Amino acid sequence: MTKPKDSAGGWGALNSSMHFLRREGFLKGNATLLRMNKPGGFDCPGCAWPDPKNHSVAEFCENGVKALTYETTHKRADPALFARHTVSEMRGWDDFTLENTGRLTHPMAYDSGTDHYVGITWEEAFSRIAEQLRSLGSPDEAIFYTSGRTSNEAAFLYQLLGRLYGTNNFPDCSNMCHESSGVGMGESIGTGKGTVSLEDFEKADAIFIFGQNPGTNHPRMLTELQHASKRGAKIVSFNPLMESGLLAFTHPQHPVDMLLNRSTPISSSYYQVSVGGDLAAVRAMIKHILELEESRPGILDHAFIGDQTHGFDAFRAMVKSTSWEELLGQCGLSRQEISEAAETYIRAESVICCWAMGLTQHRHGVANIQEIVNLLLLRGNIGRPGAGPCPVRGHSNVQGDRTMGITEFPTESFLGALEKNFGFTAPRKHGYSVIHAIKAMAEGKARFFLGMGGNFASATPDSDLTWKALSNCDMTVHVSTHLNRSHVIHGKSALILPCLGRSEGDYQASGRQSVTVEDSMSMVHASTGINKPASPELWSEPAIVAGIGRALFPDGPVDWESLVGDYDLIRGRIEAVIPGFEGYNARIKERGGFHLRNPASHREWKTGTGKANFSANPLPDLSIAPGRLRLTTVRSHNQYNTTVYDYGDRYRGIEGERRVIFLNGEDMRGLGLDEGVRVTLRSHSGDGVVRRAPGFRPVAYSIPRGCAAAYFPETNVLVGIDDHALKSFTPMSKYIEITLEREQG
Ligand code: SF4
Repeated sequence: MTKPKDSAGGWGALNSSMHFLRREGFLKGNATLLRMNKPGGFDCPGCAWPDPKNHSVAEFCENGVKALTYETTHKRADPALFARHTVSEMRGWDDFTLENTGRLTHPMAYDSGTDHYVGITWEEAFSRIAEQLRSLGSPDEAIFYTSGRTSNEAAFLYQLLGRLYGTNNFPDCSNMCHESSGVGMGESIGTGKGTVSLEDFEKADAIFIFGQNPGTNHPRMLTELQHASKRGAKIVSFNPLMESGLLAFTHPQHPVDMLLNRSTPISSSYYQVSVGGDLAAVRAMIKHILELEESRPGILDHAFIGDQTHGFDAFRAMVKSTSWEELLGQCGLSRQEISEAAETYIRAESVICCWAMGLTQHRHGVANIQEIVNLLLLRGNIGRPGAGPCPVRGHSNVQGDRTMGITEFPTESFLGALEKNFGFTAPRKHGYSVIHAIKAMAEGKARFFLGMGGNFASATPDSDLTWKALSNCDMTVHVSTHLNRSHVIHGKSALILPCLGRSEGDYQASGRQSVTVEDSMSMVHASTGINKPASPELWSEPAIVAGIGRALFPDGPVDWESLVGDYDLIRGRIEAVIPGFEGYNARIKERGGFHLRNPASHREWKTGTGKANFSANPLPDLSIAPGRLRLTTVRSHNQYNTTVYDYGDRYRGIEGERRVIFLNGEDMRGLGLDEGVRVTLRSHSGDGVVRRAPGFRPVAYSIPRGCAAAYFPETNVLVGIDDHALKSFTPMSKYIEITLEREQG
């Protein structure tokens, strides 16, 4: 344990990047890095932060290095590894050990007789999948899961395959992260996507950041924040934990700053809101603004509110009737802090509000997002330069996958266009989200699971139930680059289908292919892999979907072979089905790709009222029994989603371990704990089931009293399956009521 850092980036980031390059094979990683996030190169397989128009020589961050070296590693999870270890043995390995075995090299099938994975041919794998799917009683017994790395082309073919088969069961990782943003913004402003671009970051006078840790999860965002800070824009952060990336930043690619060890302050104000208290904090700011407006009229944009919005009077009445005592009690901030934040908001001509899962993964996750939209609407901060909502997405193509139709509730217009184009009748029944898919598998209503990327067993809540659910399936199939927990928690039969990584050359009948992705700000661009694949046996994701399609539907109506032979043809079909992709193949050749039009950015409100809606949501009930803590889950700096690149967390001062719980020092003293003991975390879910996570070491950290933080996915076991956001079904991973049980010895 070392002192938490008070600045992100700098020499620590450079040294860490060098460490990963050395560990995984310096030469290949190093050469490939210079082609990452560049026109003609490939897209970083990490987060969805957009690329700037003017690229620097090295357009990547420390996380990008980790993501890339993870792909270019010399380690191999090959048939010899599977011959040496039984699956039961591998089940005892932790997530880091599993993934650190390296790249998968061959399609493998589980052999229950020997408890080993053994090699299988691609054609045999496809025919087993087709046979299993044909044996199901109903198409709705199959689940087609997607992770956010999947390219537009693979995702489009994948949803086509599932819908041809007859189901809308497309749970995806969006269900677990920004679904609350999609639902909340959809109701409020008629779009589930952010309305801002990188250019807006250059124009904003103030950037508010809620429940987000960009230093670890979207590191290149720090470059924009650094620019904003240098030109005098205010950056206001609301976060329970003190995070180094929100404090200051030294750009590792700026030699002068590096030589002088000079960092740029990021947050001009930092408010350590209580876990779960963001809605109250934002509403308190709004209450302050409305009160000021009464004495100092003209703060609100009345013309905008009158012309463009709906529901303001009801919302204002509700805010008025909410007491200061209740608001301050929930958010844990002082009246002074709230007035400061509100005054910063008022003084700024243009405001961007960013957020991530610190806001979405609560019972009131949708209301959190809508309160931010309410705040923006007060001064017309949507649909003009330098202003707007910015939900910062996680995985690199999570937004694009949704655009491609990966959703359990597709629109009628999408299904109609799909039917017209491919000549079949698509299912209309609402499919399963992640939560519903887990329940269906656990109850035996779903018996087949296909995961296009990701690590379902580790990413999902209620680990014990999820693992039981996967084991209940007749067949589980995973398209993956690395071995992970989802391969060792498997169905009665199981297949691992190894695929190409983003950096690897994808050659099909017509030659080398590019895929496309959509970033967090709706820019669609091409990604062309350059490296020799980790194994000649790897297939691309589109080719794997097409292989299953051929085996399942040998008589049409889709000519899978031609589509996958030339991805331009897939894009042609996307263009025909999905609005906004006109001239797709030509436009991805433009430098930086093209922007998908967002109506709300132009003040076109695709809502039921035809206006931007103020939402009058009640404050949540955050009462908690004495002795309990509110636990939020966090990622370490050595992890990306479920992928753990190494133990330790440099920014928070943690070395060589992950089973730690961050606590307020005074709470620790009150509980009689020190950093030498171990505690079991016990959650208190509404369903009454006792869930425990043992072996955690308390660590004193800068976090409000009554709050705690520990790493995902180790704490997923504590989140009950019904502990999810209202309306969006996003798991409540940022608000888990727990008590601590001191372990003996
Ligand atoms: S900011 Fe995100 S997309 Fe960019 S290099 Fe880092 S991990 Fe990759």
